[in-house]
Amino acid sequence: MRLKVKVTGIVQGVGFRPFIYRTATAHRLTGYVKNRGDAIVEILVEGEENNIKNFLTDLKTKKPPLAQIHDIITSKLEGKNEHRKFAVERSTGETELSGSVTPPDIAICDDCLRELRNPENPRFEYFFITCTNCGPRFTIIERLPYDRENTTMREFPMCSFCLKEYKDPMNRRFNAQTTACPQCGPKAYLTNAKGEPIAHKDPIREAGRLLSEGNILAIKGYGGFHVATSTTKDQPLTKLRKAKHRSQKPFAIMARSLQATETFAEVNAKEGELMASYQRPIVLLNKKSSYYLSDLLAPGLHNVGVMLPYTGLHYMLFDKVNDAAFVMTSANPPNQPIIKDNETALKNLGNTVDYFLFHNRQIAHRCDDSVLRTHDGNTVFTRRSRGYAPAPIILKNHAKHSVLALGGELNNTVCILNGNKAFISQHIGDVENVETQSFLETATEHLLRLTNTKVETVACDLHPKFTTTKLAKELAAERGWQFRQVQHHYAHIFGLMTEHNIDEIVGVCCDGYGYGPKGEAWGGEILLCHKDIHGFKRVAHLEKQPLAGGDLATRYPLRTAAGILYGKVPIDDWLLQNKQHFPHQEKEIEVILQQLKNRKNVIETTSCGRVLDAVSAILGICYARTYEGEPSMKLESAAMKGRDVLKLNPAIKNHTLNTTQIVQKIFENKGKHARRDLAYSAHAYLAKGLAALATENAYDNGVKTVGFSGEVSYNQIFVKTMRKIVEDAGLNFLVHKDISAGDGGLSFGQAVVAEFSRF
Ligand SMILES: [Zn+2]
Ligand SMILES: [Zn+2]
Repeated sequence: MRLKVKVTGIVQGVGFRPFIYRTATAHRLTGYVKNRGDAIVEILVEGEENNIKNFLTDLKTKKPPLAQIHDIITSKLEGKNEHRKFAVERSTGETELSGSVTPPDIAICDDCLRELRNPENPRFEYFFITCTNCGPRFTIIERLPYDRENTTMREFPMCSFCLKEYKDPMNRRFNAQTTACPQCGPKAYLTNAKGEPIAHKDPIREAGRLLSEGNILAIKGYGGFHVATSTTKDQPLTKLRKAKHRSQKPFAIMARSLQATETFAEVNAKEGELMASYQRPIVLLNKKSSYYLSDLLAPGLHNVGVMLPYTGLHYMLFDKVNDAAFVMTSANPPNQPIIKDNETALKNLGNTVDYFLFHNRQIAHRCDDSVLRTHDGNTVFTRRSRGYAPAPIILKNHAKHSVLALGGELNNTVCILNGNKAFISQHIGDVENVETQSFLETATEHLLRLTNTKVETVACDLHPKFTTTKLAKELAAERGWQFRQVQHHYAHIFGLMTEHNIDEIVGVCCDGYGYGPKGEAWGGEILLCHKDIHGFKRVAHLEKQPLAGGDLATRYPLRTAAGILYGKVPIDDWLLQNKQHFPHQEKEIEVILQQLKNRKNVIETTSCGRVLDAVSAILGICYARTYEGEPSMKLESAAMKGRDVLKLNPAIKNHTLNTTQIVQKIFENKGKHARRDLAYSAHAYLAKGLAALATENAYDNGVKTVGFSGEVSYNQIFVKTMRKIVEDAGLNFLVHKDISAGDGGLSFGQAVVAEFSRF
């Protein structure tokens, strides 16, 4: 019998050809296996029918751990057997099939880690030790098929030792494209801030020592540069914050081990498992009461983002020091993507850092670290990037048309919908300037090429001024694609429905801002959605509140507080007492009061985020937003150990939750109760009110499921409170699991609306 087998999925760069070679020879089959340009693996087997059957069973059941098989397409061939042995053939360029993809970057595996530490091994202490089961993939691949000459490893011809392993079918590095050793592979080197080399025979451990001493280093990794320093010394952290213009934004850290993490943070079983997974995400962990790292790492927050080392280089940084962890934050200039090239790093970071730890391999595609937290054992993504992208989310439904969705503006990603797979890009960032836009365009083209997708529809947000909307319009015109705009909160909720394969839902979507159907500023919406009905029905929402000075109120939450309280309680004196929190002090307060009086330069919003901002400012927790979500994140942290002292019943009228009442009560009670209890009371009021509105509308419409999406659904207190109420009412409560709940998940929502909702 002769059989041609095409395997689609994530099958290149995961040790699939070696696996096929071993399996075929074990079953005494002849033929070949090869990689193709459409990211699939093509196999020809010749031999006894029974042996071929067993081969196919093994193919499905014994596949390498990192492989994801989507389809196995077989076709019998006529004619005589042609092959005398089984061979790994040269890759070919066919692009017949679409929807397969290469793997994400994978953290160093246990075997490689052991070899890294074994003085007998030729790769002893080699910082980029990898094998077929680990190493960079997504960030080094320039084009398909996944062969060394199509990656940035092309510049490092293998030495005879590496080549021997590479060609040995019984070796773990058989056909491993990232195979390298100290002789032939990428080299690491240390320079001063000007880029002048510092000769050192052990540059990585020297870098670790410099970090421990309190120096600031830029360190090149797989997908970009990190800026690193000590986690216990205030002086370099203060310097770093000043240089990066980040007075408050939390810095992610890298801990030497799980055990070391447990000395400063609480790690439950699920969190430990996620941290140690091959994706090695940053996991937001609650600080321990005995937290001893600098308060400058994550000021005002109850948690800290921690990841474990994911390359040999990272492990070696800790070898000669006692530090439990180092700061390891993405090196990106404000509003720009993470730096990936050596020259750009020198130019942009030279004034910030004391030293650079470079390596001489190019990064083909940048990729930020992923960030997540857990709620009661559920994973909640804030950023799905390294370790996950570009692996697809597999859907129950098949798309008839391929869709490219460009997302929104902040924390953006793009998404390609192809068949039953949604490919979400790595984190792109805030698409507000040329650099990020050009990153978005290259990332999109790369993902289209990798997945071999022929787009028919391009989707984007309703906002006419978003860069992504303009780009989608241009693409549609240029390439003759269908153009589809999707409302922000609808995209979130429909994404949630699709992720859980639900036909109808009452979805609560709470965030900072999204463009409403008539240009309104939305952000606290309850939508009734049905898969077979066009669009959505907005069944309830939060009360509209005025933002004095429009967008300025987002940056200075006291403005929002003033807007909510204006006319309800006297606020002039209180504002004057807080004048130092307004850039122009008394003058500005006067203008704000005029704006509110005359309703001039005032935008109205139903945003949940803005209400939380106002409470945060009233309680003196945050007066200026220096990073996205800061006032509400700090409010949640303040509320973590609080209780509901106000016990205010949500006031609901005409499907609108009154938010003035709670803000006013908080204002009147400040100083009378502990801050944490008032912070908690605000959470409880809003969460109870939203849950009541959602359950009521679910009953009225005969819907069994309530969902929660948008940035506010990162908030543990909201989720816990709402889940209890909804489930007690006999309804299902859903949150996201594989897709970011914030705007990183927007592109996915747009793509599935464009394809699966009825138009
Ligand atoms: Zn390995
Ligand atoms: Zn070598």
